[in-house]
Amino acid sequence: MSNSMTFNPHKIREDFPILSRKNRGKPLVYLDNAATSQKPSTVINAVRNYYLENNSNVHRGVYELAEDAENHYRSSREEVAQWLGTSPAEIIFTRGATEGLNLIARSFAEPLLTKGDQIILTEMEHHANIVPWQMIAESTGAEIVVVPVLQDGSLDREILDKLLNHPRTSILSICHISNVLGTQNPIKEIVNEAHKNGVKVIIDGAQSVPHLKVNLRDIDCDFFVFSGHKLFAPMGIGVVYAKGELLKDMIPYQGGGDMIDQVSFSGTSYTTGVQRFEAGTPNVSGAIGLAEAIRYLKSIDFHQVDAHEKMLLESTREMLCDVKGLVEHGTVEGKAGVFCFTIDGIHPHDLATLLDAEGIATRTGHHCCQPLMERLGHTATARASFSIYNTMEDVERFCSSLKRAANILG
Ligand SMILES: *Cc1c(COP(=O)(O)O)cnc(C)c1O
Repeated sequence: MSNSMTFNPHKIREDFPILSRKNRGKPLVYLDNAATSQKPSTVINAVRNYYLENNSNVHRGVYELAEDAENHYRSSREEVAQWLGTSPAEIIFTRGATEGLNLIARSFAEPLLTKGDQIILTEMEHHANIVPWQMIAESTGAEIVVVPVLQDGSLDREILDKLLNHPRTSILSICHISNVLGTQNPIKEIVNEAHKNGVKVIIDGAQSVPHLKVNLRDIDCDFFVFSGHKLFAPMGIGVVYAKGELLKDMIPYQGGGDMIDQVSFSGTSYTTGVQRFEAGTPNVSGAIGLAEAIRYLKSIDFHQVDAHEKMLLESTREMLCDVKGLVEHGTVEGKAGVFCFTIDGIHPHDLATLLDAEGIATRTGHHCCQPLMERLGHTATARASFSIYNTMEDVERFCSSLKRAANILG
């Protein structure tokens, strides 16, 4: 494993067994990290060991095995809380960022909103941070107001600030980092501005936690969500951070076992705390995998991750600067290592197909951001997204294959 003194992507690659497989018979170059990350052996083994040695249902088990599972589940929540700089009493496990945003919309926002209240979103949001709000707007009569994205991929701060100061604005839900543009929103400043006007802030951190060390006490947002699978952990586990003072008054999102105090046909009472939002058997192995991914990340210096991924992005730009008609979408200073682009006259899907034949995994389409695609004037774009295990060799193979593909298709 790497340590913070010697950040070495080649060394990190050795921790990720899948990276040595082939894709269409060529060594795999995995550049679809914004869709999902690969998993280190330690995470794979933690999940495997859970099923080999610890599997049993959590809560109310009176035998040793069940106590072990319960302890693992509890300590996973503690690991997540500590890593985010919060308390375990503020960490709810979900299936992922999508379920997290739905939970917040239903349990927190729906009871709060009345007709004419405003929910602020931005033009760069993922569908997961749009559709749940449309559902809540429908049921409450609240209105959705959208902050535009400027040409460089940054937010129109003037409009955002104006909206935050509107008397009917009660909620802002915004991504930390855009999965398309790579824009990193100045969320600490935005949270500060929002709070001056009593606006509650929900942050979609799906794309920030894999690239930045996030401290939620410092950011001081009201809610924060992310998915384990983009953070080197298994699919099917995610996290909602909810500020304690808000969590305490939220209504349950789903009913069932493990979220109740007493059940009877004349009336049921709910349990308190985070368990009120975790109806049914939880994803224990997922939580254990997530905690293990966090332990893995603790050995890595995020300043170096950031510098490395930005270096890969910069090199990509340099190598591709002479490709005719290539436009990068999202060019704001300090953006994350996401290279989203189009080439005039070439369909992104055709590019991706030729790249795939060379072993290179990229993503094309709307990236679950159709409103943003509309803003950019494309129905689809191509995207290469970098992670801790990508190397200069990956960038070189991507760029030379892309140039060949552009020549063939252009
Ligand atoms: C991936 C992603 C989501 C949704 O995450 P799921 O794991 O699909 O629930 C939400 N927002 C952003 C910015 C994302 O990149």
